[in-house]
Amino acid sequence: MEAASALATKALDGNRYALARLISLVEDDSGDARAALRAIYPHTGHAHIIGVTGAPGTGKSTLVNELAKALRAQTTTVGIVAVDPSSPFTGGAMLGDRVRMRDLAGDPGIFIRSMATRGSLGGLARATSDVVKLLDAVGFAVILVETVGAGQAEVDIARTAHTTIVIEAPGMGDEVQALKAGLMEIADVLVVNKADRPGAARTARALELVINLNTTRSQTGDNAWQPPIVQTIALDGTGVAEVLEATAAHRKHLITTGMWARREQVRVETELYNILQQELLGRVIAQAGEEQMQDWVARIVAREVDVYTAVGTIIGK
Ligand code: GDP
Repeated sequence: MEAASALATKALDGNRYALARLISLVEDDSGDARAALRAIYPHTGHAHIIGVTGAPGTGKSTLVNELAKALRAQTTTVGIVAVDPSSPFTGGAMLGDRVRMRDLAGDPGIFIRSMATRGSLGGLARATSDVVKLLDAVGFAVILVETVGAGQAEVDIARTAHTTIVIEAPGMGDEVQALKAGLMEIADVLVVNKADRPGAARTARALELVINLNTTRSQTGDNAWQPPIVQTIALDGTGVAEVLEATAAHRKHLITTGMWARREQVRVETELYNILQQELLGRVIAQAGEEQMQDWVARIVAREVDVYTAVGTIIGK
């Protein structure tokens, strides 16, 4: 097998095959992947990372497709990472991909990758972050990270973006779905898709109410960003230009207020602590042995020992 560092050099030179191979390595979290990530890291930090999230069926894939097309029309290069924690498939083309391929295939300015479950959601978040780094390093100007806004892990994945688009659609139940999924707090741009359907204006008004409530609660002066609400019809591209204007405005806002740098710092800090935690935990468990760990569980259940004493003994305190 080709050395990861050689693959990294090729990928940085624009070799798409090398990039795809590297992504597979990163997904498998091999030692080689780490060498490659080390090599590419100095080249990262240029892309605008945009998270796109919302309940299933709101039109995320369709909208991401349209956003990519509109960006390509401006000659902006686009990477798409579609994350589906519920799907056991990875690497290959999922159903949504085939739709995408039809529209976007053969364009070297675009790269599409699907990510599925990595055994654990934490692992998926980490793999997604690493794949985004690869796409950033090889020069994609905008990276769209599409996730199903269903649980905390998906919210965490969306949170690693600079700008988060939360998609809502009318007729998906009475309540605003994004509110239920806790997505409102992370929304920088709100999209009411399926504006061709009845109830879109009502959904937009409901979102506006929530936003106004949120902003009054956490008014932070000049740095405050009021998430715009954009109505779209992803099926025919209506409103897509406005969504891109909103994301560009948000990027500008982050930079001029210094929040770009602050978000980066928070993101790196979270990543550092998460990985440190995973590595240390892995090391401790490897040292103690799986069997021993199960033994501790049994003893705690039997009230022979309490959990703090167990932990203290395991880490040798
Ligand atoms: P996702 O699950 O959020 O990725 O949603 P999809 O992009 O797969 O879209 C779900 C369904 O809604 C598909 O049948 C789309 O064709 C349809 N759809 C997407 N956007 C619109 C829209 O603007 N209007 C209408 N009427 N249907 C849409």
